[in-house]
Amino acid sequence: MTVLNVLIAPHSTLSTKAAVVTVFDDALRQQLNDMTETMYADNGIGLAANQVGILKRIIVMDIGDDNSLTRDPNPIKQKLFYFINPEIEWTSDEKVVFEEGCLSVPGQGIPVERSASLRLRYHDETGKEKTETFHGLQARCILHEIDHINGKTMLDYLSKLKKDLAVRKIMKHYSSR
Ligand SMILES: [Zn+2]
Repeated sequence: MTVLNVLIAPHSTLSTKAAVVTVFDDALRQQLNDMTETMYADNGIGLAANQVGILKRIIVMDIGDDNSLTRDPNPIKQKLFYFINPEIEWTSDEKVVFEEGCLSVPGQGIPVERSASLRLRYHDETGKEKTETFHGLQARCILHEIDHINGKTMLDYLSKLKKDLAVRKIMKHYSSR
């Protein structure tokens, strides 16, 4: 397994919509392994393929065994998900505002309003279709990562003025890797 470089905003790959996966082969599973390794190495709870320069609709997520929004930042047990070609089938009317972080937007915490629950249809690493309902931090993480594969980062929830300020800060303190 390989730890991949995580792209830092602003980067064109982070604002590009990723393509649907049609082939479920060993090369895809290798990419999933590498993304998982990268997520763990950077203490992330989720990672979208765009963030490591792969324009495919792939997400890995592991928030551990505590699904609360205010959970311990270092999960004890691993609970790994692979979401390939994720499609949101339903979101709850109930919304929650919560400050998010992002490996591609270092040093920034941005409050984002998102649905509290959702139902997701996706393919697993073998191409099998699954449908599952998620709540809490898992639902929030999935919505954040789906933004990534649609070419959106949490910076896009800011006003233009605040976004420009945040981008300038990131460019000053984090050289692109
Ligand atoms: Zn992110």
